[in-house]
Amino acid sequence: MKKLKHSFEIGIVYDDKCPKPDFLTGFGFSALVYNNFTENYSLFDTGGKGDILVHNINKFNVEISNIKNVIISHNHHDHAGGLARILQKNPSIQVYVPMDDFNAFSKVFSHKHIHGVSEMIEIEENLFISGQFKGSFNSEQSFFLKTKENEFIILVGCAHPGLEKFIIKARNISRVRAIIGGFHGFKNFSYLKGIEFIGACHCSKYYNFIRETFPEQFKRICVGDYFFF
Ligand SMILES: [Zn+2]
Ligand SMILES: [Zn+2]
Repeated sequence: MKKLKHSFEIGIVYDDKCPKPDFLTGFGFSALVYNNFTENYSLFDTGGKGDILVHNINKFNVEISNIKNVIISHNHHDHAGGLARILQKNPSIQVYVPMDDFNAFSKVFSHKHIHGVSEMIEIEENLFISGQFKGSFNSEQSFFLKTKENEFIILVGCAHPGLEKFIIKARNISRVRAIIGGFHGFKNFSYLKGIEFIGACHCSKYYNFIRETFPEQFKRICVGDYFFF
């Protein structure tokens, strides 16, 4: 087995805050993930607008044609809005959506590789999709990256069904090291204890409270940030 320095690299390619020079902002969320185990790129969510998304991905010197998978957390425009442009540029990309949204996506996109996900699956070495959780309006899934230390990095879209659902699911398997994305109305803050890297961004309603309560663990997430885990 090869020795890896890092397991994953995560580039923030869509949000509306604090852009690094030459990156564009917009309402929504998307993160580009490089998996060092497989040397593949995956995209988690696609933000609201395809042109902003493609611009920001290209800023990391990555071509859309080099991305293997796209995982859509849930069927809201600020997460799935950029998908059409991605499919146009990469017809062989594999798309994973919550099973409850499978028909909706299949109707809109005549794309051969759309997969509906119900239960947790491993899509490639150390990349897991949580399986869908039902919220009051929609179903949602998140992305679990398992590091060489056997810890999880969790990427979430809006976490509408409740962020703790995803944390509990991951913790049933292993320790959670980091969580990044939209926490929406999440306020069961005790679930964040013990997580080293808390990257609340996008739609996190209690952003300031989380930042003040977990000053050591809280990380400000900006468009154009690039993290190594
Ligand atoms: Zn959102
Ligand atoms: Zn949403």
